[in-house]
Amino acid sequence: MQQLLREKHIAYVQSLDKHQESFEYWLSEHLRLNGVYWGLTALCLMDAKESFNKDEVVEFVMNCYCESTGGFGPFPRHEAHIHATLSGIQVLATYDALDVLTTGQVDQTVQFIRGNQLSDGSFQGDRFGEVDTRFVYTSLSALSILGKLTPEVVDPAVEFIMRCYNFDGGFGLCPGAESHSAQCFVCLGALAIVGRLNELNEDQLEKTGWWLCERQLPEGGLNGRPSKLPDVCYSWWVLSSLAIIDKLEWIDYEKLREFILKSQDSKKGGISDRPDNEVDVFHTLFGLAGLSLMGFENLVPIDPVYCMPCYVTKKFKKYPY
Ligand SMILES: [Zn+2]
Repeated sequence: MQQLLREKHIAYVQSLDKHQESFEYWLSEHLRLNGVYWGLTALCLMDAKESFNKDEVVEFVMNCYCESTGGFGPFPRHEAHIHATLSGIQVLATYDALDVLTTGQVDQTVQFIRGNQLSDGSFQGDRFGEVDTRFVYTSLSALSILGKLTPEVVDPAVEFIMRCYNFDGGFGLCPGAESHSAQCFVCLGALAIVGRLNELNEDQLEKTGWWLCERQLPEGGLNGRPSKLPDVCYSWWVLSSLAIIDKLEWIDYEKLREFILKSQDSKKGGISDRPDNEVDVFHTLFGLAGLSLMGFENLVPIDPVYCMPCYVTKKFKKYPY
């Protein structure tokens, strides 16, 4: 039977920042702050948070803060983006270090996020205007962690999300777009953050549950939409969605566990998207997060809504305040 290679995964995540001279390191600059969040959260789930140097990480996050716009960029001197902004806030919250932001900086960050909301309630990722339900989740999650949600932001956002609900029970990236598991997570997560899951009635939730559990394939892994290959990161997008609507047990845990553990690299550590592929920190986190949600391998419990350890999120204020 497969076992979780905890020590190898810790060493793998820890090693990621020691390859600064490599070409891949510079190629991933546009995702660096996200990468720090993925790595730190993975370590937290394995109860190895101290494997990263807190002071260095907090300093890096603050170097990504963009004074002119108030958001965070993925790397120092990069333009701010909503996704990097959420990662920066998540990392600070995980270290219980949100107070390194001055009141003025928090206000500016809130303004940056709110400034990206469009008249239909949706959010763009940055001033270049890509719109996607992912950014609604990202924005609401970041504002929630900061304790800064308001009805002017929440109500139109909820309306937009409900327009992305499809007849098959799934959600798309915009109204009328095909259902996708990642979009189910961001839409259900956003509704949960603002306490509005009751926008969906019992029949709708039942349909959502069916659409999600049909993502499990005979080999145990889950896919993003019908007739696609299974992928470890969907262990998170699908499972967290089911957890949010209280239907987690609609999945075959043992088969999914086996699929995730088979995707580990037994030599260098880390988890890949499916068995025998190259590992990365993104799939390492979401594999561990899936195992944590199912209660396997003695991992630290993860919050299905925020994708952060429960011991961090239990301190967040619940909206409406
Ligand atoms: Zn994936």
